[in-house]
Formats: sequence, C-alpha cells, structure tokens
Amino acid sequence: MAHEAEKKRRLAAQVQGVATVALALGIFALDVLSPLQGAVAVLYTIVVLLTTRANARGLTLTAGFVCALLAIAGYFISHDHEALGSAAVRLSVALVAIGVTTLLSVRHMAAAEHRRIADRRYRAIFNAAGFPIWEGDWSEAFRLLRGKQAPDAEAIDIAARTATICDANHAAAALFGLERREELVGGTLVRFHTPAAEATLGRILQAMIAGETTIEEETRFIDARGEPVDVLLRVTIPPQQKEWRQVLIMGLDVTERNQTNVRLAQAQAQLTHVSRITTLGQLAASIAHEVNQPLSALITYAKSGKRWLAREAPDAAEVSDCLDHVVSNGTRAADVIARIRALARRADPRQDAIDLASLVDETIELLRRDLNTHDVTVEVTMPEGLPPLVGDRVQMQQVLMNLMLNAEQAMAQVAPGARVMCVEVVAEPDSVAVHVRDSGGGIAVEPESLFSPFFTTKSEGMGMGLSICRSIIESHGGTLGAENHPDGGAVFSFRLPVAGAMESAA
Ligand code: ADP
Repeated sequence: MAHEAEKKRRLAAQVQGVATVALALGIFALDVLSPLQGAVAVLYTIVVLLTTRANARGLTLTAGFVCALLAIAGYFISHDHEALGSAAVRLSVALVAIGVTTLLSVRHMAAAEHRRIADRRYRAIFNAAGFPIWEGDWSEAFRLLRGKQAPDAEAIDIAARTATICDANHAAAALFGLERREELVGGTLVRFHTPAAEATLGRILQAMIAGETTIEEETRFIDARGEPVDVLLRVTIPPQQKEWRQVLIMGLDVTERNQTNVRLAQAQAQLTHVSRITTLGQLAASIAHEVNQPLSALITYAKSGKRWLAREAPDAAEVSDCLDHVVSNGTRAADVIARIRALARRADPRQDAIDLASLVDETIELLRRDLNTHDVTVEVTMPEGLPPLVGDRVQMQQVLMNLMLNAEQAMAQVAPGARVMCVEVVAEPDSVAVHVRDSGGGIAVEPESLFSPFFTTKSEGMGMGLSICRSIIESHGGTLGAENHPDGGAVFSFRLPVAGAMESAA
C-alpha cells in the first residue's frame, strides 16, 4: 500500500517537473516571439513558485537563477539592436520580481522546514514519553458551550461526549487496557466512563469555560478489561488553541498509589485500635472497679428490698425506693460497659458532632480510679458553650486518654501530694485547644522526638501512643505538640478546627 502511494507520488512529481520546464520554455518562446518586449518575463515568477512544491530550496534557487538567465537571454535575442530603453526597464522589473519571489519562496520553505522539524520532534517526544498523552479535539464541545456562562449538567454531559481523540501514544492506549493506540485514535473516551469520570469531565469543561488553560483533576475510568483505573488528568489548552481544537491531555496512572494508600489507612486503623485496646488493658483494674461499684450497690439494694418485703407488714414505699436504686445502679453499670465497648470495638472512622466538654468529663471519669490510686489531683478549666467539633468521638477519647495516662505516669517520681494534672480547654476564633499539663519531670529530649513511632522511655512502653495521637488529630485537620512548662512539667496541646471552620477548609 505504502509502496503504491510512494510510486504515485513520484510519478506526479515527475509530471510536475516536466510541466514546469515546459512552462519555462513556453514563457521563453513567448518572450522572444511576442511583441510585448520583456513584460512576459515577469511570468517566470510562476515557474519559481511551482518549484516550491518540490520542497527543495536548492531547486527553487536554481530555478530562480535559470529563469533570470532566460529573461536576460530573451532580452538580448529580441532587443540586441536596441539601446537601453523601456524594454530594459521592463527586464529589470522582471528580474527584481524573479529575485524577490525566489528569496521569499526560499524563506518560506525554510520556515516550513523549521515547523516540520519542530513537529517531528514533538511527535517523537509524544510517542516516546513513558506516560500517557493524548490529543483531543474538543471544538464541538466549545461550539455547544460557547457563550454559556453556567451550562446545566445535561449540556455539559452532551458536550463532554463530543470530545474526540485525534492522537494518542502507546502509553495512553495501555492506560485504557488497549494493545494499540489506533484503537483509541478517532474515538471518544465514553466507553471508559464512570459516574466519577463524567463528573470530572464536567468540572474540567466548566473550568475551561471560565478561561483556565491548565486543569488537574483525579478521576476513575473503567479500562477495556473492565478494571478500574485511577488517573490523574492534566488538561492543557495550548495558547493558540482558542476553540479547543487541540487539547493536550496527560494521564498519570495512580491506581497503585491509591491502593497502597487504602492499605496504609487500613493498617493505621488496625494499629490505632490495637493501641486503644492496650490502653484499656492498662485500665483493666479501674474498669473492673467502675463496674463492680454499681453492681455491689445493686445487690445491696436488692437484698434490702427483699427484707422490706419479708416483713409482716411489707413497706411498699421502701421496696419501691430500693427498686429505683436497683434500676439506677444497673443503668450505671450498663453505661460503663457501653462506654468500654465503644472504645474496644473496631469501626471505621465516623463523623460525629463531638461535645468536647462532656468528652473530657467522661474520660476523666473513666480514669478517675486510676488517677486516685496514683494520688493525682485533677484540675479542669473549661469555658461554657464550647462550639461542637466534628470527628470520631472514640478516637478523640483515645487521644485524651493517652495524654492523661502519660501525664499520670510522668508524675510517678513526684511526691504524692504534688501530683497535679491540669486539663484546660480554650475556645479560639476558629478552633478549640486542649492543654494537658502535668507536674512531672518534664521532657528531657527534643519534644518532637516523642512523636516518633516506637520512642519510649518506659520499660513496658510501646512508644506508639503519641505517634497515633498525632495522626488521629491530623486526620481531623488539627495539630498536636508538646513543650515543657516554664513552671515545670510537660504540656501536651492539641488544636482542632470547629465544625464551621472545618467545612470551609474542606
Ligand atoms: P509510651 O507511653 O508507650 O512510652 P507514648 O508515645 O505515649 O508511648 O510516649 C512516648 C514517650 O514520650 C514516653 O515514653 C515518655 O518518655 C514521653 N512522654 C510522654 N508523655 C510525657 C509527659 N507527660 N511528660 C514527659 N514525658 C512524656
């Protein structure tokens, strides 16, 4: 096929060459024989222009030179007897015309050659690039959306489906699970679309309407094998492409990165859970006591109720009072168990509205016996009417529990009467800060190092607590840090955006 076409092309070039030479000779004959005396020589410019089709600068230069010689020869043949006169002036005009045409043609050919080289280089880079690139013709979408400032979803959808692929490299075909790039070229991406991809395309078109020329969006396609592929798209409209005729799209396959991120998040969630269970393990004695207390009270009230009933004249009022106590203590025990179960269960992170004041109180209650056992005095400062936070209540309680237990353990070497833990909650303009301060020996190392995984100074420590606390706080859009207090002891502070601030940040 290609061979046939090449043969045909060569034949056409030969025919053209012969015709051009014939034309030059025809002009020469006309020049010599006609009574027009030199004016005909201007027609040689046509010969020069015809040679440019061969795309060879040397040929055009030679043609210009030969035509000039022919024009001069023609002049001398028909006017050798004349002195310098109007015919000579016409010859000069013809020579200038031939010269200028030749030079302009050669320059034009040089520029065209330059463009061809640049284009070849672009093609080579396009095809050899290790990442997927394709060129789209989005002019139909441009025509449909032109002038619409806020097109509706349907208009966007219709326009998005008109974007055709004019060229694509092999990597682009591979991205969509295809063997050859020809399977992509000439078609659209509609068959790979997912609802997410359609939404993304809508956003891209909207940004393009707004005049943006480079847009980055991550989306998901379904490839030719039916597998999902996550792609980071970079859409560029070259400066001269006002009507989206040539839109350049680069796609980076981020499927593996995303899968790794999901696995990482799962591993992190497991670790967070294990750490929480470990903390609960440390509190086992306290928890048992917490549950035991109402249970003992319940038994006592049940026994005394029974005694009131066993009397000769049972006292209904007393029995009812005892039963009320049975109910309230039973409820208290059930509450404690429910709280512990919530802490122990493994669940995906939630987005609860968190009332920080009650969470701080509840956590102190949970640790109360442990703190009492270790002679720790607790001081709480909390303003009224704190704005609610949004996040995972259980994870947040885990952070508070960790910081409080660390504070308690940091004061083990301090005299029992001097063990004070201050919990201070401060409302700030867009956030809420929580400071947990102790009266222990303070931080002996660079405070940041405490947050490195596995950093511990405790014989039984795992060194994961603070690192996990920080990732919990950061996943809620906040920060967690530590420093020594000027009056002694360490202060651990975290700051979380309040619900409104978090939404506006998102
Ligand atoms: P672990 O409690 O298992 O050691 P953490 O990550 O909770 O793990 O703490 C890491 C280290 O940070 C602790 O071993 C301790 O040296 C230091 N640390 C934590 N809290 C305090 C505190 N309140 N005062 C001084 N040092 C602290």
